[in-house]
Amino acid sequence: MKVVIVGNNVAGTFSGQNLRYLNEDVEIEIFTQERYPYYTRVKLPEVISGKVQTNDLIVFKDDWYKDKKIKLNLNKRVIKIEPHQKKLFIEGENKPVTYDKLILALGSVPNIPPIKNAREMVGKGVFTLRTIEDTVDIKNYIEKSKAKKALIIGGGLLGLELANQIKDSNLDTTVVEFFPKLLPRQLDDECSAMLKEEIETKGIKVILKAATEEILGNGYVTGIKLKDGQIFEADIILIQAGIRATIDLAQNSGIETNRGIVVDEFLETSEKDIFAVGDCIEYKNQTWGIIPACMEQSKIVAASALGLRKIEYKGTTPKNTLKIVGLELTSIGIFDPSQEVGGGWDILKKADKKDCCYQKLVLKDNKLKGAILFGDNNAMSFVYKKMEQDVTKKELMEILELYIYKCSNCGAEYDETKMEVLFKDLPDEWKCPSCKHSKEGFNKN
Ligand SMILES: Cc1cc2nc3c(=O)[nH]c(=O)nc-3n(C[C@H](O)[C@H](O)[C@H](O)COP(=O)(O)OP(=O)(O)OC[C@H]3O[C@@H](n4cnc5c(N)ncnc54)[C@H](O)[C@@H]3O)c2cc1C
Repeated sequence: MKVVIVGNNVAGTFSGQNLRYLNEDVEIEIFTQERYPYYTRVKLPEVISGKVQTNDLIVFKDDWYKDKKIKLNLNKRVIKIEPHQKKLFIEGENKPVTYDKLILALGSVPNIPPIKNAREMVGKGVFTLRTIEDTVDIKNYIEKSKAKKALIIGGGLLGLELANQIKDSNLDTTVVEFFPKLLPRQLDDECSAMLKEEIETKGIKVILKAATEEILGNGYVTGIKLKDGQIFEADIILIQAGIRATIDLAQNSGIETNRGIVVDEFLETSEKDIFAVGDCIEYKNQTWGIIPACMEQSKIVAASALGLRKIEYKGTTPKNTLKIVGLELTSIGIFDPSQEVGGGWDILKKADKKDCCYQKLVLKDNKLKGAILFGDNNAMSFVYKKMEQDVTKKELMEILELYIYKCSNCGAEYDETKMEVLFKDLPDEWKCPSCKHSKEGFNKN
């Protein structure tokens, strides 16, 4: 049997690895339009600042493919699939490639919002970041144009990580975000405000509620104009405004698509023997765009393609970490129950504004459903281990180091899980609300 995989990043590569793990004999062939074997995109921003070299990104070199008996075809763009004849066509080649099972691991591309001149100015000062080539283009442009001011459109994870590396390349750096807060998909308002302060302390300017209307310039960029008329100057503009699943190949080949390539619980598409995996898929109206989802799906798709329909995909819990040195931030699962339907939600929160720490655990019916951990990662392994499991309030209080203090005079309690301010942060002159006993008269329960 021959399995052909299109796409050679996390999803395609690990699907190949899992296929080989499950079956010694199956013929595996990968096609990718990129020039490189599997490389990680995670450190692309660091290539721009020069902290990481392109070669350091390559995860699996030629030997790995030889060892796994996987034939890798670089620089090959698949332009058409004939599902009924089980054939696919490569750009510039006449002879079709045949397959028994096909896995589409086509990934995603950066989204360019409908901003006037944005598309026209790509390469002339406007850039997105997805591939090694993009880092080379950005670096070259900064050097050649002697750029001094950078604007990053998009205050999500990638926008902030990129802004940090651009700032480290000694450019005056500003992030403009459409929403009224940074990381709108990962953080609640309180934590987002704390993050903004920290980002600004690092020397990056942040402008919120900023709807970019137009890229300004004549042949090369000179800045942006917001919908409210404000103008910001820039020599280079980097757009990090989300991603779009790559669906065109599937769409042109008669495979059902929506926001992504639509798959069932075995990751099979609307066409028999054609599967899809990674950033390009849509399952139950959801798309992902994170590595943990690619890894999980690659196990299922490998089994499904081999006809072992034992594991069903149930979706992947969103898990995101901001990778800026000195800023520990992880958001996992549900962080804002007010956006969810149904009752039974509970929140345990510890906000230490002085030390810039914020920890929030979200429960539903005593099951851990999500967390935000900022500035203190001590609870991380607990959260990863206990997600979707039963937890007690007592163990959560221990993990977050939250306490109940008791007044030695009247027995009144100061329960940190219910208060906005930690006991230690109360002013010295604070008194027991019941008997007016001094703060020193309280003891940990
Ligand atoms: C800068 C950056 C940092 C990131 N950091 C993180 C992180 O810290 N944590 C995290 O979880 N995720 C992170 N991500 C997201 C993560 O990289 C993606 O989720 C992951 O790369 C998706 O893998 P994939 O294989 O599904 O798709 P992709 O990585 O998009 O790969 C798809 C491949 O298929 C090729 N292809 C598409 N169409 C064709 C065709 N017709 N013919 C041939 N080849 C084709 C594409 O060229 C591409 O090489 C980051 C992404 C970026 C850009």
